[in-house]
Amino acid sequence: MSEHFSTIAAISTPPGKGGVALIRVSGPEAFAVVLRVFRPRGKSLPWERPRTAVYGDFLSEGEVIDDGLVTAFPAPASYTGEDTVELSCHGGVLITRTLLEALFLAGAVPAPAGEFTRRAYLSGRLGLTEAEAIATLLDAKSTAQVRLSAARGVLAERLDAYYRELLTLTSSAEAVIDFPEEDLAELSTEELTRRLHALREGMTALTGSYRTGRSVTEGVRAVIVGRPNVGKSCLYNLLVGEEAAIVSDTPGTTRDLLERTVPLGRVLLRLTDTAGLHASDDPIETLGMDRARRAMEEAELLLSVFDASAPLTDEDRALMAALPKGRTAVAILNKSDLPTRIDRQEIEARFENLVEMSATCGTATALCELCDRLFTDGALSIGEDPIVSSARQYAALCRTCEALTAAEGALLAGMPADMYLADLEAALSALGEVDGRTVNEEIVREIFSHFCVGK
Ligand code: GDP
Repeated sequence: MSEHFSTIAAISTPPGKGGVALIRVSGPEAFAVVLRVFRPRGKSLPWERPRTAVYGDFLSEGEVIDDGLVTAFPAPASYTGEDTVELSCHGGVLITRTLLEALFLAGAVPAPAGEFTRRAYLSGRLGLTEAEAIATLLDAKSTAQVRLSAARGVLAERLDAYYRELLTLTSSAEAVIDFPEEDLAELSTEELTRRLHALREGMTALTGSYRTGRSVTEGVRAVIVGRPNVGKSCLYNLLVGEEAAIVSDTPGTTRDLLERTVPLGRVLLRLTDTAGLHASDDPIETLGMDRARRAMEEAELLLSVFDASAPLTDEDRALMAALPKGRTAVAILNKSDLPTRIDRQEIEARFENLVEMSATCGTATALCELCDRLFTDGALSIGEDPIVSSARQYAALCRTCEALTAAEGALLAGMPADMYLADLEAALSALGEVDGRTVNEEIVREIFSHFCVGK
């Protein structure tokens, strides 16, 4: 560890009242700092019995303020890789805050957001892709996200295997250049070509998993459109109602529309609430329509709702014509519980994807399966296969693949070794960025800035 580290402390449980709160202290002085605020009731100090909770009293300015448990994790077997202590006190806001302040008085400093995880990364306990997966987990809104994050080790292992293979290929190419006479290259040209090809194919497939990873973590921007009374609000409620406990509201930043994050199968829909705008008798409806149009422009998925129990109207047709091109559009033939009167052929001429459903007396299962099919790769098992899920990882992997393709081309064209060596080195550097081996400090800071304090 090159950086000199202070001893940090932060509350790791969410703010507010709770049964217990957890304060974490990490750094070279962690044990000394905690000794100033904790007096065990028994004979042993926490670091004399590592990873075992020790009961005692918490002190602030010499006064007992609470009792609780303290667990020590001596370096290097801790989350951060440093000496770490976890203090569990009663979960009141004031008591937790007072104990934290006592730790500051005892020599700890406040931990910036994500600092514990940043230290874990810097001490080599955690790769960058794993750190990013933890950020996803803290923010998870669907079970698929949780599973994806749980499989972070699988991605890290796969990247590590690719990195080591690329390193072997690169050093073999270097040996050819440095000692041309001596035949020191570990690999024959045929072997190098074959392995480079296999590596590029594997990495291209891994890069392709981002389509799935992105749909699961970042989500797909979707909007429900349709003329009044086709059942948009009912569909919206059906979608939002599912797994309502983990639905979250995020007020739009650039517009007033509400965006709801709705897990639909493995996909996370970022559903913009234009449904409400259409349904209401808003006196400034034109404004509402403008917003709906803008939401349509920004969406990747258009859920275009029709009332299947009535013939198509001119308004339906106008809406179909107004749908922006280049988006995935799904026609929802709603009210399937009533006799069908809609002209299906006319809809099929415009939409590749059709779902028949009833928003009031059915389920969203068919829509769910369709979204999975459209936005995720069914061959990938979330939680078991390595899946790329951040734009940063994806961009670096794309650069790696480009450099590998160039190296393969040069090799196949019989170019001299220094030609493809440069490409292999570029690939190595780009791949190293993915898990943080060759990442620059700014990117690291950016990643950890998204964490909360105490993680
Ligand atoms: P919106 O104006 O497009 O948002 O439409 P609403 O969701 O407000 O629905 C309009 C009317 O259609 C309401 O009376 C709903 O109860 C009814 N409706 C919506 N979906 C269905 C459905 O699947 N089957 C039946 N039978 N009625 C529905």
